[in-house]
Amino acid sequence: MIIIIIMREQGPGVRKHSRKREAILELIRSTPSHPGAQWIYDSLKPLIPDLSLGTVYRNISLFREEGSVVSVGVVNGEERFDAVTSPHPHWVCEGCGRVLDLPRIEGELLDRLGCPERESGYVTDFRKTVFYGRCPECGSGDTPPEPSDLRVM
Ligand SMILES: [Zn+2]
Ligand SMILES: [Zn+2]
Repeated sequence: MIIIIIMREQGPGVRKHSRKREAILELIRSTPSHPGAQWIYDSLKPLIPDLSLGTVYRNISLFREEGSVVSVGVVNGEERFDAVTSPHPHWVCEGCGRVLDLPRIEGELLDRLGCPERESGYVTDFRKTVFYGRCPECGSGDTPPEPSDLRVM
């Protein structure tokens, strides 16, 4: 019985489907950029010509259900994803939308805060720490734009 099921799962359609799934997961794992679905689609489309944006979304949903990918949240209107599923804080640029990991600060914060549920009876299911700001390329927001930027606008 088990053998029959395995053989069915290795049918050509399923194999093709899981190849796409592996490519999407591998890409999310390989980049520190916390990509969104559109970026994943744009990156893989040249390699997998019959890939659709819907397939990317469907597979991301699956990864989230099985816990291999977590959502970082919506940045500049697009949901972003992370294959590092252990809790760690993120730094988000409100200009260009780049997302960085801040693992060191997470440890320092937790050391300072302690674990509240230990003594209080409160139970934390998950925690999410996000810092927002502007990266060096986007500037502080106070500096006037360069002449070249003005021409572009
Ligand atoms: Zn930026
Ligand atoms: Zn991250």
